This record gives sequence, structure tokens and C-alpha cells, in this order.
Amino acid sequence: MKTILLVEDEPRMRQVVRAYLEQAGFRVIAVGDGPSALHAFRREQPDLIVLDLMLPGMDGFEVCRTIRRESGVPIIILTARVEEEDRVVGLELGADDYITKPFSPRELVARVRAVLRRAQGEVAPPAVIRIGDLTIDLERREVRMGEREVHLTPTEFELLATMARHPGRVFTRLQLLERVQGVAYEGYERTIDAHIKNLRQKLEPDPKNPQYVLTVYGVGYKLREAD
Ligand code: CA
Repeated sequence: MKTILLVEDEPRMRQVVRAYLEQAGFRVIAVGDGPSALHAFRREQPDLIVLDLMLPGMDGFEVCRTIRRESGVPIIILTARVEEEDRVVGLELGADDYITKPFSPRELVARVRAVLRRAQGEVAPPAVIRIGDLTIDLERREVRMGEREVHLTPTEFELLATMARHPGRVFTRLQLLERVQGVAYEGYERTIDAHIKNLRQKLEPDPKNPQYVLTVYGVGYKLREAD
């Protein structure tokens, strides 16, 4: 049974989320503040953490930053709908996914399962990834759309490969920049948009209505998951 650490300061919310996760077959440890979260994380070694950002005292960002220094455990952050900036910062601190409040418990359970699945998949990413008509051979660095071979620049390939290793995971522009260039300077994030545009031109059957390389508004980009 997978153990989930739930960090949420509102008792009612904590209770509801806990009940749903337990119903879905998870063991849940629920705490209401940052220091308790760090303590429980070190003691229980959970398989995944659901972390509210707005916590009294030590906020969720600080909790996320501290945990990431010690572990690669999957983290899903909970953010308010209005605060897009929070999602970007959370992902850049190393969170794996985010859910905006208010959310349906069903959505939360689905996200938890997806992130756990991805976390397991990361142990041995397949050399050939297939998503719809798109085939990416990571070792040969070959990309096909159906029967058509797609010729990408090294940067475009790196960009695609980065997202392909984690289908469905949202990447911020800064994260993508760092993966494709090795370094990332704030203020240069928008250069990623140009690469994405070129990638779509070469890849997408209809670049104006992308079906593979998807925009996540206010956050960044992701590659569609396999059907
Ligand atoms: Ca809160």
C-alpha cells in the first residue's frame, strides 16, 4: 500500500481529502503545518506528498525546497486558482504537478495515481516512446510522425525528449531552458516559445491546433500522454 503525506492546514479540507485518498486505497498521514510535514516526511518516507502552499508559519515553498534537498519523492502542490505565479515557482522548486483549488476529489486521486505511475516509470524510461502517431527513439535520436521522418535541430530534439521522458508532466519555460541549454537565465524563458513554435511546425499535423506539444496557460508546456 502506498503512503501519502497530506499537508493542509484547513481541518475540513484535510479531512475530506484524507477520506478520498483512503477510499482510493492509500495510506494517508495528514499534518497541518510545515515543521510537522518535514518531521513526518523523515519519519514515514511517504511515496508521495500532497502539499498545500498556503500554510501558517513555514509555507509550502519552503517545505518543498527543504524536501527536495533530501529526496526526489513525488510532490503535488495545491494552489489557489488566481495565483498562476505560484504554480510556476512550485514546479521550479521541484514539485511534480499541481492542482488548483477548488478541485474535485476525483481529480486529485487521478493526479496522485498519474504522478505515482510516472515516478515508477522514471526508473527505466523506454528508449522508444510512442504517443499517438508520434514516435521518438531516444537512443537513435529519431523522430517520426506516422511514416514521415521529422528532422529536428539538436535543441528541438532535446526539448521534445525532455518532455517525452515525462509525458503529461508540465514544464515551466525556465525548466525547459535549463534542460536544453544546461543553464537557464531568468528573462530568457521566452526563447523557449520560439523553439516550441518551430517544433510544432515540423511535428504537428496542424501547428495552429497542436495535438502533441500542448500549452499550459500561465505555466509552460507539456507533451500529451499516450492514449
Ligand atoms: Ca492552506
